[in-house]
Amino acid sequence: MSSLLSLPTYWLRRLSLATVVLVVLGLASEFVYRSALTAQRDRVYAEFQLAAAQHIDTLRTRLSALLDLQELLAKHVDVAGPGSSNEFGQVTRPLMRVHPFISAIVYAEVDARESGVRYPVRYALSDGVWPQPGANLAEEGPHAASAIVAALGSSRTYATPPLASPDDGTPDGIRLFAAAGQGVTAVFMHLNDLAESTLWAGMDPDARDIAFTIVDTTDGPSHANEIYRDTVEDGFQTAYVEAIPFANRNWLVIATPMPTHYQLDPLPSVSRQRYAGWAITLLATLIVAFLQSRNTVIRGHVARRTAELARSNQMLAETNATLEAEIRHRIASEAALRESATLQQAILHSADYAIILTDKDGLVRVFNPAAEQMLGCSAADVVGKRTPAAFIHEDDLARLNQGTGETGFAALLAATQDRDASDPLELDLIQCDGGRLPSSISVSPIVDASHGSISGYLAIAADITHRKAAESRILHLAHFDPLTDLPNRSLLHARLEEALDTAATCKQPLAVLFLDLDRFKYVNDSLGHQAGDALLKAVSGRFRHCVREQDTVARMGGDEFIVVLSDFEGREHAAEVAGRIIEALNAPFEIKGHRLTVTPSIGIAVYPEDGDKADLLIKHADAAMYHAKEQGRNNYQFYERRFSTDVSARLNIENRLRRALEKAEFEVYYQPQVETATGEFIGLEALLRWRDPEHGMVSPQEFIPIAEDSGLIVPIGEWVMRTACQQNQAWRAARLLDVPVAVNLSARQFDEHTLLGTVSRILEDTGLPASRLELELTETLIMRNPEMTADVLDAGKRLGVQISVDDFGTGYSSLAYLKRFPIDRLKIDRSFIADIETEPDDAAIAQTIIAMAHTLRIDVLAEGVETVAQLRMLRNWACSAYQGYLCSHPLPAHEMTALLRGLRAAHMLGLPETGHV
Ligand code: C2E
Ligand code: CA
Ligand code: CA
Repeated sequence: MSSLLSLPTYWLRRLSLATVVLVVLGLASEFVYRSALTAQRDRVYAEFQLAAAQHIDTLRTRLSALLDLQELLAKHVDVAGPGSSNEFGQVTRPLMRVHPFISAIVYAEVDARESGVRYPVRYALSDGVWPQPGANLAEEGPHAASAIVAALGSSRTYATPPLASPDDGTPDGIRLFAAAGQGVTAVFMHLNDLAESTLWAGMDPDARDIAFTIVDTTDGPSHANEIYRDTVEDGFQTAYVEAIPFANRNWLVIATPMPTHYQLDPLPSVSRQRYAGWAITLLATLIVAFLQSRNTVIRGHVARRTAELARSNQMLAETNATLEAEIRHRIASEAALRESATLQQAILHSADYAIILTDKDGLVRVFNPAAEQMLGCSAADVVGKRTPAAFIHEDDLARLNQGTGETGFAALLAATQDRDASDPLELDLIQCDGGRLPSSISVSPIVDASHGSISGYLAIAADITHRKAAESRILHLAHFDPLTDLPNRSLLHARLEEALDTAATCKQPLAVLFLDLDRFKYVNDSLGHQAGDALLKAVSGRFRHCVREQDTVARMGGDEFIVVLSDFEGREHAAEVAGRIIEALNAPFEIKGHRLTVTPSIGIAVYPEDGDKADLLIKHADAAMYHAKEQGRNNYQFYERRFSTDVSARLNIENRLRRALEKAEFEVYYQPQVETATGEFIGLEALLRWRDPEHGMVSPQEFIPIAEDSGLIVPIGEWVMRTACQQNQAWRAARLLDVPVAVNLSARQFDEHTLLGTVSRILEDTGLPASRLELELTETLIMRNPEMTADVLDAGKRLGVQISVDDFGTGYSSLAYLKRFPIDRLKIDRSFIADIETEPDDAAIAQTIIAMAHTLRIDVLAEGVETVAQLRMLRNWACSAYQGYLCSHPLPAHEMTALLRGLRAAHMLGLPETGHV
């Protein structure tokens, strides 16, 4: 009975246990399956979202670059005016090249009449037929017209919705308008081309995994207007949306994943997991149902299996998570790789310097088109076959590997690595046909980030032929007189110093002959400068024949020449040479159909009797020459001591100068220094004027040398500095101007040990901040005593004053040498600027100076700019500032105040505030 009763209870227990196992395990496998599926979908969506965000980001960056360019173009027109059609083309063509979706760039004017406002196109750079110069931009319809009006009324860029293009009728033309100068600039672009080149960047249509739609929501969500749509067969409902503001418009970009690329159905592995789970569940249930009562061992077994199953399920889920992270990482790094490869190709092909990449043994792997062109061989002949060292002359290599003991390519690397980056290695590369190419080259190792070992080398070389040529031209011009090709004043000084050294060591005499042509001025005045120049050339040719190899004939300027006789036998020898020169000029010259005769007056000073310094010998030879003139010209005179007392004329000026300071006959004028790009004032130069009661205005060029000789320049210079600082502080206090005032310094002032004391006292007395004072020193002054100059300038810099080099280019100093001094700015001498329009040599020199100064990070200012054409050239060469009559003559303080007031008033009225007056 008891067994009968217990029978159903027994089955019930058995069944319920099996059911419990079935339900629990079934639920568990179903749960694991669901979460694996969710993880799969999340992963796919994350991939899609990442890709869509990247594409959209490219679009956003491109649009903002486009707006920046449009703004830059408008600013350019504001500042420089629209210029000529050609110039407009020069500025806009590169923009079109960078953005292929731009179909036209236009500058149009505003033409307001009673019949309505027109916007006739003045310049158009277009790859279609629309718009041509003269066309009215408003004709494109109300959208275009209202965007133009909006742009004119603000400083922002305005965009239209897509318009039908008059070129080919495609309805996706967007116009961007910005106010510029007296009109508007307009950029025309195609939305389809924009989408193709940014969202897809040329990707094959079959490979596209996302479809984009762009909606314009500028007029609110209810007026949303779909302006672009990729063709899709059947997208998912899932989408990713980002808003992109573009000029005045708001765009929404909607990305939809393509079903062909993003898989949402369960992956086979996930499904398999579910089947396996259920199979195990069923098995377990069966085992429980049939064996539960009989075998507890088996029950325990099942329990273990269950635990194992749960563990393996968990492991599966964990694997899914790692897999997901790994995929995400791979997508990101592949995108970065793609981007950097495209960038690399673009750099290699567009660079105008040679780029040579080698493996770690130095064998060439990459040889870009510029390298092919520079070295005259094709990449095919070089890649895998040669090393960069193969293009370097063995002598150079031998020179470079000194000390390192390295050979070949490694030597080059070692030599370029030790150097300062601002001072790259310059040498001649040997071209494939054996020719030489001056170039500057740098080599860097490529380090494998994963091992830290060197995996290759990158050599970059630039062709510096033009710069080398310009440098040697500068060098020559610096030492030789361009007209006669004789050594000039500075080379003469150097040679004379050298000859004096030799003469002193060898206890030999030396003679300096000062030659001046009698009445040469009349040739110039009556027959013109060209005849005068031709005569000087012919005369100097004859001079050269009168002396020996080792003697120097130099031109001091005008009709003055100097002959230095070294290694000479005595006064008779000097007299003989002077006699020969006089004789040589006896025969007339045939100049432009005239028979001309000139005679010289010659003064002779002999070392050591008449002086032991170059300057003194020249000065005494000069005095003797004046005496020769007094003696009736066409003769020579030796220097005698009494000549030096013949200075009454100079004394006279000197006395009047002395008085001038007491009687307040001096005045300081100010000339603006302005930025070439904007016309804004960046400084003033203080220039001294002397109102002599007897002779009226005397030019500083006349009286400053006398003031320098007599030492009067020290008190006068101090007065100039004090006056200029006071005045500048007054303008600052009146809020008219806040720029440095530049004061010229003479050598004499520099000799005074008190210079810095004077400067700081004046700054303190006037209250002018040190940064608002600039000291101008000539190049010759700096080079006269470089050590002392460097000390004084360093102290000046510590004080905080600005330092500039005046009349740069007239003496000779290499820019690299000048860089040792704490110099803020170079002022290119007027004589170079005067002829840049007509003399290609002068233009090349000025351009080279500017470029070299940029490299050394020194500011450049061009002096004596008188024409718009000069300014334009300087601006093209990125010369940052200029000074000259084009902007303003030097003005007395009260006129400068009036000018500054006017500018300030214009500024307050919002009128254009250029410094041009
Ligand atoms: P600088 O320092 O080279 O000054 C520039 C000279 O060029 C000034 O002549 C100026 O009037 C002139 N100038 C400016 N723009 C133009 C232009 O577009 N075309 C031409 N043809 N000339 C232009 P300025 O005032 O006659 O002075 C002559 C020289 O006298 C100065 O040359 C400077 O060396 C010296 N100087 C002037 N004031 C002082 C001073 O206070 N102290 C010292 N030590 N020297 C001074
Ligand atoms: Ca100056
Ligand atoms: Ca100057």
